[in-house]
Amino acid sequence: MSYNKLYKKNFKRKFGQVFLKDINVIKNIINLICPKINQTIVEIGPGTGAITKKLVNLVKYLFLIEIDIDLATKLTNKLSNNNINIICQNVINTNFFILSRRINQKLRLFGNLPYNNCISIIFHVLKYINVIHDIHFMLQKELANRIIATPNSKEYGKLSVIMQYYYNMVPLINISPTSFYPIPKVYSTVIKFIPRNYKININLDKLILILNLAFNQRRKKIKNSLRKLFSVKDLVKYNVDPSLRADEITIDQYYYLTNKVNI
Ligand code: SAM
Repeated sequence: MSYNKLYKKNFKRKFGQVFLKDINVIKNIINLICPKINQTIVEIGPGTGAITKKLVNLVKYLFLIEIDIDLATKLTNKLSNNNINIICQNVINTNFFILSRRINQKLRLFGNLPYNNCISIIFHVLKYINVIHDIHFMLQKELANRIIATPNSKEYGKLSVIMQYYYNMVPLINISPTSFYPIPKVYSTVIKFIPRNYKININLDKLILILNLAFNQRRKKIKNSLRKLFSVKDLVKYNVDPSLRADEITIDQYYYLTNKVNI
């Protein structure tokens, strides 16, 4: 069966399905993940198994989490191997602590994530950071740019500050829309996420509160947008210039403010 027929038959838009079909890109991704035979990889959304097939013999265990029952059934028929565990569920309901405990090992996560649900999946995974060795996620390039953005850029925002607290991140490759079926409108980027040793502990709810206030009115000076939480005097005391705007505050300054906020 031709590639296009195979993918057309399986395609469900509601699950954000965009299948990788370029064999050179697939090989490149496997090289970048660099799986080791004693490791466990969890693939989120294996789809038709285009990348999965190449991983089977390279690692000790493979957990495949696929929401689409039709694809999960096809994968079960196609990839029957003792080291593969196909879990048909929404990854948002997956408890990665349990998976890690089952094999007594930290997990390596991988996924060409569904475009329509990326952010909730990224935030779900964040809860399990302590049992994660590393992550390779393929994301829309625009989203990837927001995650790795630094201050004074238009992409810099809430996601950049939150994700850079938890991970060191390396953008690895950009992938052209023509490598997929159906052809998406945008480029994709594979990013490697490596959990960080945090310098300071912060409360995520407090950080999100500060970021919402600051970035929901990103053109305002922070002495105004953060007025409910910090006086001008407080900001000066914490070495944060009150006349700056949200996108001029450094990531470390946001963490510092989070630890100082009194709520
Ligand atoms: N990995 C395949 C590839 O690269 O060709 C498919 C990638 S496609 C962008 C996303 C895959 O994630 C689809 O197989 C889709 O059914 C699955 N998926 C979407 N939402 C999901 C969810 N919440 N939990 C688990 N799998 C999901």
